[in-house]
Amino acid sequence: MGLVVQKYGGSFLENAEKVSKVARRVIEAYKEGHSVVVVVSAQGSTTDELLEKAAEINPKPSNREIDVLLSAGEQIAIALLAMAIEREGHHAVSLTGYQAGIFTDSNYGSSRIKSVDAERIIKELDKKNIVVVAGFQGWNKYDDITTFGRCGSDTTAVALAAALKADRCEMYTDVAGVYTANPRIVSDAAKLKEISYDEMLELVNLGEKNVLHNRAVELARKYNVNLIVKSSLDDDPGTIVKEVGTVERMLVRGVARDNDIARIAVIGVEDKPGVAFRLFSLLAKEKICIDIILQSIGRDNTKDISFTVKRENLNKTLDVINANLGVIGAAEVKHSDKYSKVSIVGAGMVNNAGVAATMFEALYDAGINIHMITTSEIKISVLVDVQDADKAVKVVHDKFNLGEVK
Ligand code: ASP
Ligand code: MG
Repeated sequence: MGLVVQKYGGSFLENAEKVSKVARRVIEAYKEGHSVVVVVSAQGSTTDELLEKAAEINPKPSNREIDVLLSAGEQIAIALLAMAIEREGHHAVSLTGYQAGIFTDSNYGSSRIKSVDAERIIKELDKKNIVVVAGFQGWNKYDDITTFGRCGSDTTAVALAAALKADRCEMYTDVAGVYTANPRIVSDAAKLKEISYDEMLELVNLGEKNVLHNRAVELARKYNVNLIVKSSLDDDPGTIVKEVGTVERMLVRGVARDNDIARIAVIGVEDKPGVAFRLFSLLAKEKICIDIILQSIGRDNTKDISFTVKRENLNKTLDVINANLGVIGAAEVKHSDKYSKVSIVGAGMVNNAGVAATMFEALYDAGINIHMITTSEIKISVLVDVQDADKAVKVVHDKFNLGEVK
């Protein structure tokens, strides 16, 4: 029999009753003869509550202390789940990220896993223990606790599945699984049976970040981890995330929306070589990631460059530009954060003419104005007014008949 990693999101562990239910589910897998490693998130909204507590004490706490605080949420969850398993008459052992050998870099609050030493976990599995590991945390070269960023427990699960060469990694997610669109926006969104790593990564990066942590998908792709996303404890098979070639190529697999966008327009820069280089190298130096870029055609020896950044980076971006206005040579800088990015994703669009036109037609029919467009082999994104975003998701979803996906 094989080794299974199961990850449970916080909503599965909200109270004693739910923890017991998860315990029974874990025991079921164990009784089937598998070695079982369980990764858990903090119960319910514990992480948010801990952040609120921190804010009451200090509006600008250090990332190191935040990591010590937040990691406690997962530590509570592992102990409670191990106790629940023991009450059912089975052996369980809870391990923190440190005890589980998860070694990270020192970026407190958004650290990345550098290595996993699974020796302790293997020893516990050999003793026939069910191993319960705290998600979202590790330790660094200073012997400090580090955390991976929101939703980071997914990454713990995939990293352990890769290190242990697990047969499969089952993700019981807080949200409803992988759908053709967010079911809270589109009532007839369909649950996908399968999706490729690349498509999944695009959906997550294009705004559906609650479905899976992007690092988790990257790791799964890198180590070819057999990933199954489930939204309930019943027998629903969930969504399988796997390699592109093995997934049926559908034109469009899903629609994503991201409201976390700001646009900056740098107007009236000189129309000559080096201008874009100067602007974007200044921003790169400050580690500001740029998303969509649009450059107007030149007129009277000047042109405009507009681009988008994450909303949280808007002020920093404006500061950099304003401090360097002389170097950039702009006549005016405008900005707005009243935009949203709506994207379609699908590996099948690569060789398919007309996908973009179909998307734009849907938006035109709904009277939705497009401000910017960007495309890649497997996605098309448009920038629309934030108040149009949900409608845009709906009409595009409809246009491609995604509600009928089986
Ligand atoms: N508890 C953390 C959070 O709420 C990590 C996770 O749930 O994966 O973001
Ligand atoms: Mg959570």
